[in-house]
Amino acid sequence: MRFRYVCSECRREFEITPELMVCPHHEQRPDRPLRGVLEVRFDDEVAQKFRRSLDIFDILPVPREFFPPIPVGNTPMWSPSNLRKKLELPNLYLKDDTANPTGSLKDRASFLVSAFARMHGIKDIVVASTGNAGSSMAGIGAAAGQKVTLFIPAAAPKAKLIQALQYGAHVVRVDGNYDLAYDLSLEYSRRFGGMSRNTGYNPMTIEGKKTAAIEIFLQLGRRAPNFVFVPVGDGVIIAGVYKGFADLMGAGLIETMPTVFAVQARGSNALCQAMEKGDFEPVSAQTVADSISVDVPRNGYHALANLKRYGGRCIEVTDDEILEAQLMLSSTTGLFAEPAASASLAGLLKVRNSIDQKGTIVLLITGNGLKDIAAAQKLVELPQKLIKSIDELE
Ligand SMILES: *Cc1c(COP(=O)(O)O)cnc(C)c1O
Repeated sequence: MRFRYVCSECRREFEITPELMVCPHHEQRPDRPLRGVLEVRFDDEVAQKFRRSLDIFDILPVPREFFPPIPVGNTPMWSPSNLRKKLELPNLYLKDDTANPTGSLKDRASFLVSAFARMHGIKDIVVASTGNAGSSMAGIGAAAGQKVTLFIPAAAPKAKLIQALQYGAHVVRVDGNYDLAYDLSLEYSRRFGGMSRNTGYNPMTIEGKKTAAIEIFLQLGRRAPNFVFVPVGDGVIIAGVYKGFADLMGAGLIETMPTVFAVQARGSNALCQAMEKGDFEPVSAQTVADSISVDVPRNGYHALANLKRYGGRCIEVTDDEILEAQLMLSSTTGLFAEPAASASLAGLLKVRNSIDQKGTIVLLITGNGLKDIAAAQKLVELPQKLIKSIDELE
């Protein structure tokens, strides 16, 4: 077995199959994050091959030929020179995952889930999402020729809903929040079949997102950054980022884990609270950053264990700070990010004075600003006056 699942809690090992989602030796509790989240592990032969090839496909648990024909990942990482000067951070980078085909980092997870389903001849994929995971799965599924059923809460931004419909997904709108959509989607796949792509629950969602960390390593000229800022809702992106760097450590390609900052909206701060208290209490999430708005972070325990193990930190930012960071990012760099993605910069602004300012800092920019125009409109003023002649300009 070159690839296998390992339970992140009890370390039991399992063969990778599409039926297995979480370790069966742990009980799930309603209103609590998942227990027994499974991680993909690979043997030393795989690690050694990757060490020589540096080809990311070599450390993914699905052979390359199963991936759908759409260019996910390989997103740009670049130096925002105006922002570097403004913040006096000479080694700041933006990892622009808005450049993925459907406009968010979620494509990394959908890409691997889609390939995994194809490898097993599964044509139906079911997902609950506040927007990006759903529109992503719909787009990647369209490329793969898979049928995607999406459970989406009533409050999801319209652009993400329309995007999923454009891709031809079967969209079910839920009269309730993400947590209800999540439960309904699982019941649907139990009753009608289809593989669940629910974030955190399907282990391929974590594994797919690790590619962001591997690309950062490659784009920095084969080294790890000192600091990475990651917006956190369910805690799957951050777990994927840790997994990528852990794989690099395992292959002997880097020596130390970067300091990862988990950035949460103050109104959706379950993970930050758990960092302090040691356990999760459901919150009643409310934030302008819909992509990181969750009552119960599905991958909470796993993300928390990663943060504790590797000395990561949690930062809370207010909605105002998020919107100001969004505007600063757009207007100084040209990168227009949705509020959740702008939380990375908001988090950096909070800790800028307490970290090594010469360090290599990467902001993970996870989703495109066009996905939520209503939020982006809050801090800009639409000119009211319409003109017919240049003479009317003041
Ligand atoms: C999903 C998402 C996040 C948060 O990822 P989690 O895995 O839920 O922590 C952040 N930003 C954007 C744009 C997202 O779509």
